[in-house]
Amino acid sequence: PLPVLAVVGRPNVGKSTLVNRILGRREAVVQDVPGVTRDRVSYPAEWAGRRFTLVDTGGWEHDAAGLHARVADQAEVAIELADAVMFIVDATVGPTSTDEQVVRLLRKSGKPVVLVANKVDSPMQEADASALWSLGLGQPWPVSALHGRGSGDLLDAAMAIL
Ligand code: GDP
Ligand code: MG
Repeated sequence: PLPVLAVVGRPNVGKSTLVNRILGRREAVVQDVPGVTRDRVSYPAEWAGRRFTLVDTGGWEHDAAGLHARVADQAEVAIELADAVMFIVDATVGPTSTDEQVVRLLRKSGKPVVLVANKVDSPMQEADASALWSLGLGQPWPVSALHGRGSGDLLDAAMAIL
């Protein structure tokens, strides 16, 4: 069986956009607002001659009261089934309490993690990425899933832990 790389993060951080970037095609559904509940979706993927299974975690119902619980449920299952995790944070927002909740799950799992600082669309936003060192997951990789900026270095880092 191929190694499994799961893409985890709260709604709207750009998980599906990054999955499409990695796949090189628009297969994962990108939404401007979180809202539609979907299960985890697995895709066959390849980088630098390595094949792996890429798992996008779907949206959650945008129910303020239940949001944390839903993020935790989805993330926990995806982390459990993965060999390694890409944890995505929206660098333009910075770490939220929901992000911190996922960090606790990641720590508990002991799974290897690469931290993605997404929506770093320009060099001027690199400082936003640096703020994510505070999550204690090591180096944040600055990426623009939308434009492709930094995605090659990120994938190299992911392959190194997968
Ligand atoms: P998901 O809910 O985590 O899967 O997030 P999506 O991939 O559906 O993206 C949510 C929104 O963020 C969409 O409007 C995307 O176009 C936007 N987005 C995703 N990645 C980037 C990025 O690198 N830069 C910018 N500016 N917007 C992004
Ligand atoms: Mg999505």
